[in-house]
Amino acid sequence: MHLIKQKLAITILVVSMGLISCESTSSSHTQKANSIGIGLQSRVARTPTSGSKTRQFTQTVRATAPRFIPPAPPNFNDPREDPRRAPIAAQPVILTGEQLVNQGGRAKSYSINLGQDKWVSLELWGKAHKGWYGQIRKGDEEFFRLVISGMRFDLRPKRRLITCQGMQIWMGFGPQLIGGSLYVHHLDIKKHLAPLAAGMPNLGKVAVIDAGHGRDNQGTRSTFNREYEKQYTLDWAQRLKPLLEKKGWRVYLTRNGDKSMSLTERVRFADKVRASIFISLHFNAAAARVRGLETYCIAPVGMPSHFTRGNPDPVSSLLPNNPFDERSFQLAARVHNQILLKCRMPDRGVRRIRFMSVIKGQRRPAILVEGGYLSNPSEAHKIDLSTYRQKLAEGIAAAL
Ligand SMILES: [Zn+2]
Repeated sequence: MHLIKQKLAITILVVSMGLISCESTSSSHTQKANSIGIGLQSRVARTPTSGSKTRQFTQTVRATAPRFIPPAPPNFNDPREDPRRAPIAAQPVILTGEQLVNQGGRAKSYSINLGQDKWVSLELWGKAHKGWYGQIRKGDEEFFRLVISGMRFDLRPKRRLITCQGMQIWMGFGPQLIGGSLYVHHLDIKKHLAPLAAGMPNLGKVAVIDAGHGRDNQGTRSTFNREYEKQYTLDWAQRLKPLLEKKGWRVYLTRNGDKSMSLTERVRFADKVRASIFISLHFNAAAARVRGLETYCIAPVGMPSHFTRGNPDPVSSLLPNNPFDERSFQLAARVHNQILLKCRMPDRGVRRIRFMSVIKGQRRPAILVEGGYLSNPSEAHKIDLSTYRQKLAEGIAAAL
């Protein structure tokens, strides 16, 4: 393969479905302000394809992760079904320091059955949706990239951790490398890649915001000042309420003071006020070095939980929250993305979990956000700052 490089200085205005850099934006970055200009260095490369010469544009995008996940049309549940408003054919996206190794063309069949499981070719699924698929080398590492609906997904064989626009997502199964082409478990296509490509669904306008813990159930304790998690979660919820109300949401807090409330009472409360979404707010604890943001939603039927904390993980049982698998994940991914953009904290990913009582009984999209580690000295200090808790609230509001 020979490449003819012509350097073109092009500034492309990326509209709506395009790739958006968050480098130049901070507090003004919301879903509404999703069309901004970014400088792209474009190269024209010539790639021989079965005898003929095809022109390919390779964009080198200057941006830092995490980047904004653009909204796109809803109702895209069947992997074979085209998105309602089909995106323009994706162009290759090669970032600075990366090199294109292979443009695909190796997948022999759309899907392969291995034992009980169906695996879907990432290349052929992507092509069915006007995506671009290729193999990339960065340093001594190689991975596979799918660009679809204006977003780039990076995947590695046998690794459940993937990235979307540089943001971490934990899938249910590590992809399989079959004949040099990457195959993704059909549940990961249906429950992770397809919902993200489809964009944000209609989530209604009634939110229950759940400040974790309360009264005797004090939660974890700050290593910075020995304050309890329950106080910080309440403050976060109270900051979030007016921000959502300004955007037209009816907002109910599960507690508005230091009140005791069981997890099932919190679920019943959401039923009573007919909530269209449920967001539970928490802070985390682990070894002192662990820090960052985690966002949780229900594990789909057939998919193992990211972790179980010693709880049983009945993968085949249908929970009340399972009909909302996709919508919960779409909500989780966008909330996670927006908090990362606002707060600039380490990304510990969007994760699927089955045992969380406050989530699994919900009859609506439901997520749980862990807004940092009170066991980590620097994060415990940050969490004590009202400016940081305000940003956590703004991050969630920006996603809705
Ligand atoms: Zn908690």
